[in-house]
Amino acid sequence: MLGGDFSEGARAAQAATPRLPPRPIRKPMPKPSLTILLAAPRGFCAGVDRAIQIVEEALAKFGAPVYVRHEIVHNRFVVESLEAKGAVFVKELDEVPADVPVVFSAHGVPKSVPAAARARNLFYLDATCPLVSKVHHEAERHHRDGRQIIMIGHAGHPEVIGTMGQVPDGNILLVEDAAQAETVAPADPARLAYITQTTLSVDDAAEIVGVLRRRFPLIEGPRREDICYATTNRQQAVKTIAPRCDALMVIGAPNSSNSKRLVEVAARAGCERAMLVQRAADIDWPALQGVTRLGLTAGASAPEVLVEEVIDAARARFDVIIEEVAVTRETVSFKLPPALGAS
Ligand code: SF4
Repeated sequence: MLGGDFSEGARAAQAATPRLPPRPIRKPMPKPSLTILLAAPRGFCAGVDRAIQIVEEALAKFGAPVYVRHEIVHNRFVVESLEAKGAVFVKELDEVPADVPVVFSAHGVPKSVPAAARARNLFYLDATCPLVSKVHHEAERHHRDGRQIIMIGHAGHPEVIGTMGQVPDGNILLVEDAAQAETVAPADPARLAYITQTTLSVDDAAEIVGVLRRRFPLIEGPRREDICYATTNRQQAVKTIAPRCDALMVIGAPNSSNSKRLVEVAARAGCERAMLVQRAADIDWPALQGVTRLGLTAGASAPEVLVEEVIDAARARFDVIIEEVAVTRETVSFKLPPALGAS
């Protein structure tokens, strides 16, 4: 009885309640469309891949901690991933305890660094990229043959410090741009050679070499270009897509030479809105309003997972179409050092 009374009362109350008009169903706003022109090759090169593998294999073989002198490659994400596995990054060798392995970074080190490691009986693994070692050997050969060397590169970059440290102080003159190439004053223009950093802008380097060859016709140069295949290919891919893009993003670190060069190359090739970003979280999306074609690449020390992260962030805001533009396919790989079991 009680239940019957309650139901009737409820029905009556319901009938008395004025009905609200049905709400219109809101359709989600369509996302603006965005074509991402994905440059290829991009991201990790063989030298970076090898350097990271050396740290990982050393951790697997010798256990944590493994010390690494300097950032193994210029990328915070990579460094933090290796730290999580037990790598310890230090600035100088004297921060390394006596009984742990130490790895030298992909950029190469002056001769004084392995010498100091040997003096302390440290076990070290050299992750210098073989293409940087090639430039070291050129410097040594020119010095042995009595030539003064002009190095084309950026002051303070670890690779430049490492290469200049292959010969006694004062034997290499650093030239950073064409203006300096016009004024550099070697001791004997008849006994002169040049070498370059591996990650320069191909066009800038060609201009500087042109000045040096005009001023010093007897100058010797590398048999094969010192700028590495990875730098050349990534710049070529950016040059190809830049004229078709409203904006172009290079994923890379602010201290990564090859990444910074990609931004410059994009701007010169016709895409003035070229920018360096480290992670998707750094992107100023409102600033990209109106962009319908976005170029995307990554420096040689930036992993593909960061490219995917940026694409996912773009998909959350745009209706994304991916168009990959490949200028070549890379097949280069380098062996690990024998101490890690490589033959
Ligand atoms: S950018 Fe070139 S030189 Fe540098 S690590 Fe990669 S392959 Fe070696």
